[in-house]
Amino acid sequence: STFKYRNSTKAKTTCSYCGVGCGIEVSVDKKGKIELEGIEDHPVSRGMLCSKGRNLNYVVQDQTDRLMYPQMRWSKYHPLERVDWDTAIDRAAAVFKTFIEKHGPDSVGFYVSGQCLTEEYYLVNKLTKGYIGTNNVDTNSRLCMSSAVMGYVKTLGEDSVPISYEDIELADTFLIAGANPAWCHPILFRRIEAHKEKNPDTKIIVIDPRVTDSCSLADLHLQLRPGTDITLLQAIGRVLIEEGNIDLDFIQNHADGFDSYKEEVMSTSLEDASKICDVSIDDIKLAASYIGNAKAYLSMWTMGLNQSTQGVNNNLALINLNLITGQIGKPGAGPFSLTGQPNAMGGREVGGMASLLAAHRKQASPEDRQEVANFWGVDSVPDKPGLTATQMFDALDSGELKAIWIICTNPSVSMPDANLVDRAMKKAKFVVVQDISSRSDTVKYADLILPAAGWLEKEGTMTNSERRISYLPKMVDAPGEALADSEILIRFAKKMGYPGFEFKNEEEVYKEHCQLTKGTNIDISGLNYDRLKNEGSVQWPVPSETHPGTPRLFTDKKFYTPNQKAQILTTGVSNEADMLSQDFPLVLTTGRIRDQWHTMTRSGKVSKLNKHISKPYLEIHPSDAAERGIKNGDSVLISGARGEVRVNATVTENIKKGVVFLPMHWGKLMGSEFGRANNLTNKAFDPISKQPGFKYSAVEVKKYKKP
Ligand code: SF4
Repeated sequence: STFKYRNSTKAKTTCSYCGVGCGIEVSVDKKGKIELEGIEDHPVSRGMLCSKGRNLNYVVQDQTDRLMYPQMRWSKYHPLERVDWDTAIDRAAAVFKTFIEKHGPDSVGFYVSGQCLTEEYYLVNKLTKGYIGTNNVDTNSRLCMSSAVMGYVKTLGEDSVPISYEDIELADTFLIAGANPAWCHPILFRRIEAHKEKNPDTKIIVIDPRVTDSCSLADLHLQLRPGTDITLLQAIGRVLIEEGNIDLDFIQNHADGFDSYKEEVMSTSLEDASKICDVSIDDIKLAASYIGNAKAYLSMWTMGLNQSTQGVNNNLALINLNLITGQIGKPGAGPFSLTGQPNAMGGREVGGMASLLAAHRKQASPEDRQEVANFWGVDSVPDKPGLTATQMFDALDSGELKAIWIICTNPSVSMPDANLVDRAMKKAKFVVVQDISSRSDTVKYADLILPAAGWLEKEGTMTNSERRISYLPKMVDAPGEALADSEILIRFAKKMGYPGFEFKNEEEVYKEHCQLTKGTNIDISGLNYDRLKNEGSVQWPVPSETHPGTPRLFTDKKFYTPNQKAQILTTGVSNEADMLSQDFPLVLTTGRIRDQWHTMTRSGKVSKLNKHISKPYLEIHPSDAAERGIKNGDSVLISGARGEVRVNATVTENIKKGVVFLPMHWGKLMGSEFGRANNLTNKAFDPISKQPGFKYSAVEVKKYKKP
């Protein structure tokens, strides 16, 4: 490595799994043994860690699956062979240059990850948008948060999470919609649990077609029919208006659009809404009375709303409830999107999507593009929108995109319509896979494998769900010849002959990123590594070196829209893209389990975590199972328009009739012999956010009979 670090033997860092961002103290002894514990005074986790975070040391120490050295094939007909870094980077640069010269810059693309550190995200965006001359850089956050991004942009004027975790202890009413924090954001859930224990009058409403562990705290569970979130949220809005439980002062002085919203929500009767959603009128009214009588109302949501072909409108319908009740910009109140990945937010800060530019600048704005181009010292940033996640794999399939560089993500398992994704990577002219693990099902499609350093093996920063930026130190050396992702990208950029990459380490990259945020609403020009090391984590904006950070936004009720008013927006109601039919009458919804992370390339290595649930399974309601002659534990074949999956059935009352649930984690290399969940999902996406509708696929389930 040309990056020089001093390894620490004891240091504070942040968990690299989920967007909660728990604090971990790590110590490394002389023999290299890693031990870790929660940081007692950490503002996020207060000493707690969930099962995944607590076992991260095993992930670093078990190197059996690690990619150790670059590998390359000379053509599609050659096997992979070990090469040195110079050969690998020379080849990558030669191939990319050839395609760019022959077919233009839009013939190449980068597909990255919410697991990447902010510095890595910054570099890959500067490389593509500033130098290669394409906006074809997108991330797996597209599959996860892009509907929430657009929800905030449309209502608040910018992608800005208004609240802080400390609002959890200040709220008296929670709405948890399309989320199962008990399993997916465990430490956050524990804070809610502790708060409710101390304050038993706290009201918690859960909206979910499944009875999840998060329902254990619920005063009210609205077990809606999948795809009917907008109707349900609007019906709650209707009751709030009818009962005068709204904040007229906020609506008149700080928001636009109430009259049209009122007209829209009044156009559907409660009787109709109740039938559409399969939720009783009494329950709709009770939810409205909890929200309407709240002193501090906090709404939380994640994939259940975002992963929908009406994901942005789902977000608007939910945020509207905060706006009509004036529950934003004050302690304990606000709409709070829970990010899935540890650095989904940092990626958004650097403009790490095909449709974004650095520091929340707009890719569609000529002034914003020029400002970024001037900062980078290049003529221009391309105006043509880039390909988003699913579009990128479609373009590989059609031959429009020739080469793809995949960093720290496993699309073969995680993308919708996974059979198409496999075919696209097979057809691609050149696939680079930059990753830490050989257990990724994507690796087999690589023409060039670049081994990367993982958690504790490189330094950088991340931002959690509440805008909290933390510094992650390097503590151990990466195995074999693996390099920090930043260094790999810099080596490639230099080989391409691009002048803007004279960085000696991640710290210099971070300095440049911070400078580019100056004067914007997410200004972090007051931050640097020293400050983060000395003071711990800080929430943006941090516009000066003496600024303490910003726990809560919009306390002055001035929003980032041109007239500084929040926008209450109508949504309309549409259907999910996948349609139920006689052949496929059941709705498949997918999601996570408690002890696994994404496609299991890390969590699947830890035997303790595999003990929780060791195999994929299908949750099915007893009456749907009985109709099909299926008993608990039977092998079942799930089929849809795009593929099949075979697993064992778990017959349970915990899922709504007509709905089945399959966890998304297992790929072939992690032991799913008979198919991934994403064989069944649809790549169709929300028209505004381009986020696919993973949570609604039409399927049929049959008892499996040996042929
Ligand atoms: Fe890590 Fe998330 Fe668990 Fe915290 S809640 S320890 S950030 S996986």
